[in-house]
Amino acid sequence: MAAAVPLSPEPLSLEPRLEERLASLLRSGALLHTLVDALGSPLNVVLPDQIAENARRFRAAYGTHRLAGRVFFAHKANRSSALVRRLAATDAAIDVASLGELQHALGAGFTPDRIMATGPKNPEFRWLAARTGVTVNVDSYGELEELATLVGDRQLPRIRVVLRLSAFDGPGVRMRTRPSRFGSPAGELEHLLKAVERHGDAVELVGVGYHLDTTSLEEKARALEGCIRALDACRSRGLRPRAVDIGGGFGVDYLAHGEQWERYTSALTAAVLGRRPAITWRGHGYGLRNDAGTLRGSLALYPAHRPVAGARYLDELLSLPAPSFGGRPLATLLLENLYDLYTEPGRALVDQCGLVLARVLEARRTDSGDHLVRLAMKADDAGLEEHGVLMDPVLLARDGTRAAGGGEPVGVYLAGSLCLEADLITRRMVFLPWLPRPGELLGFANTAGYCMDFQTSGAQHQPVARKVAAWQAEGSWHWCLDEQYWPITRPGGES
Ligand SMILES: *Cc1c(COP(=O)(O)O)cnc(C)c1O
Repeated sequence: MAAAVPLSPEPLSLEPRLEERLASLLRSGALLHTLVDALGSPLNVVLPDQIAENARRFRAAYGTHRLAGRVFFAHKANRSSALVRRLAATDAAIDVASLGELQHALGAGFTPDRIMATGPKNPEFRWLAARTGVTVNVDSYGELEELATLVGDRQLPRIRVVLRLSAFDGPGVRMRTRPSRFGSPAGELEHLLKAVERHGDAVELVGVGYHLDTTSLEEKARALEGCIRALDACRSRGLRPRAVDIGGGFGVDYLAHGEQWERYTSALTAAVLGRRPAITWRGHGYGLRNDAGTLRGSLALYPAHRPVAGARYLDELLSLPAPSFGGRPLATLLLENLYDLYTEPGRALVDQCGLVLARVLEARRTDSGDHLVRLAMKADDAGLEEHGVLMDPVLLARDGTRAAGGGEPVGVYLAGSLCLEADLITRRMVFLPWLPRPGELLGFANTAGYCMDFQTSGAQHQPVARKVAAWQAEGSWHWCLDEQYWPITRPGGES
C-alpha cells in the first residue's frame, strides 16, 4: 500500500441506452422523488405500453419474412401484473414456467390457446395446464408419458404438446449445439414419436422446438434447421405438427455507446494485470485474473453492448442459410412448408420496460480512500451484478434536475443496506456526475428483465420493493400500483 488515497482513474462511463419512453420518465425527477417518498425505497417502476411496443416489433420481424405464428412472452423475466395484463390486450401469447405464473396469466386475461407451459413441472402445474387446455412444451420422454396418463386417468381433453429437443446433430452440421439440462436429445426423436402415436387419443403433437441459453446465432440456426428436419420426419410418419418453437434468448442492447463498452473492458483487463489503478472493489476481476503477469479466466459478463438484439436478432437468425437444405434461408424453409414460428422472448420483450429507484442514504470514504455510497436497497433488488450486466445508474437530484453540468464525474462504489460485506450493488467503480447526497435517487434503468424482481428477498426484514405501473397520457405521466393496473380507460386517459 503506497498511498492512502489512490490515484483517481479517469472516468469510465457505461451509459444506459434509453429509448424515448424511459428517457422521458427519467426526466420526470420530481415525480420519481414523490413516488419514492410515498412508497419507499427501493421502488420498481414498469412501463406497460413499452411491452406492447416491443411485441409489435417482434411481429414486424415475422412480417418481414411473411411468417405466421406466435410471440410468447417468457413470463419468468418479470413478475409484474401490469406488464402481463397489458400484453394480454395485444395479440401476443405467454410462456409460463410455474403453477403461479400459469394462474397469473389466466387471471390477466390470457385464454389457454395463448398460453404455453414450459420448464420443469410439478404435478399441480401439469394438472392445471391439462385441465385448462394450454399447450405443454414437453421436456422429456418421461414427461410425455406422465401427461398422457394424466389425460387418460382424468378423462381430460386431448392436450396439445410441443416436444423440446436439444443436442442437434445432422448432415452438413459442423457444430453440435450446446448440451442442455432440458429437452430430449434430437437423436431420440423416433422414440418420442412412437409414444406420441401410441398416446394419440391423449396428446396432439403441434410442434417441436428448442431453447438455447446462448448468444450465438450460428448455434441457434443449427438448432432451427434441426427442428425443420424433425418436422419432416414427423410428416413422413403421417403426423402433422406445424410449429417450430425457437425459444428465447434474443437479448438486449443495454448500452448507449459501444465505444464505452470497449474502453471499459480494455481498462478492466489492464487493471486486473496491474497496469492501471483498480476500477473494481478489491480488485474483483469479473472472471479474469492475473496469473503472474498473464491474463487468465474469461469475462463472466453479459455482453452489454449488443447492436443486434431483440427483434433484429430474430430477423438475422431467420435470414441465415440452412446447409442441409441446399443453403436456403431458414425463413424460406418455414414459409414454404407453411410452418408457424413460435418465439419465447423474455429479456428482449421487457427491454426498456422498467426501472429500479433507490434513495441515497450516505456517502463516505473507505479506509483506502474510495467513495462508498450506501443506498436504501439490497444488491438483490437490482440484480445487475448477479446477472453480469454492467450499466451506470442515473443520478436524480432532489429538485428533479438530472445533471448539474460542469463538474468532474466522481467514481464511487455502491453498497446495499444489508449487514453483509458482500452486499455491494456494484463491485465496479461507477462514475456519477457528482458525489450523491443523502436523499437523492439513483435510477437503475432498463432492469425489468430479470434484474428487478427475480431474486429479491425479505432478508433482515428489509422491505421488498413495491411496484408501480406508469404511462403517458395527454402529455404527462400517470401511475398506479402494479396490481391495480388494467388496460382500460382510466382517469388521465387511456394507457
Ligand atoms: C428463460 C426462458 C426463455 C426466455 O429467455 P430470454 O433469454 O429471457 O429471452 C424462453 N424459453 C424458455 C424455455 C426459458 O427457459
